Amino acid sequence: MAGNLNAKFDHFLIHVDEEIELAIKKFPSSDACLAALTEEVGELAQAMLSKSQSEIYKEAVQVAAMAARCAIEGDPSLINYRRFHYPKLGKFPEPHQ
Ligand SMILES: [Mg+2]
Repeated sequence: MAGNLNAKFDHFLIHVDEEIELAIKKFPSSDACLAALTEEVGELAQAMLSKSQSEIYKEAVQVAAMAARCAIEGDPSLINYRRFHYPKLGKFPEPHQ
């Protein structure tokens, strides 16, 4: 990756890291993490259609942060669904707390 582009991704990931910390402080439980990610994706789409570049960037950071939480923490609110429909999948990761 070209140096300038690489620096932009590095900067983006720093903002994602900060957003993850804020999100965990504001919403310590990862219950409904998938719903929150979906909401953020919708906000990113709205920003892509009609908002400024800074709004697009902010929403993209929030999408990445919630995607990271889904990947790392899972979504405990889906446990009963997963157990019933896919009993062999196993558990989500343990919560971070
Ligand atoms: Mg948002």
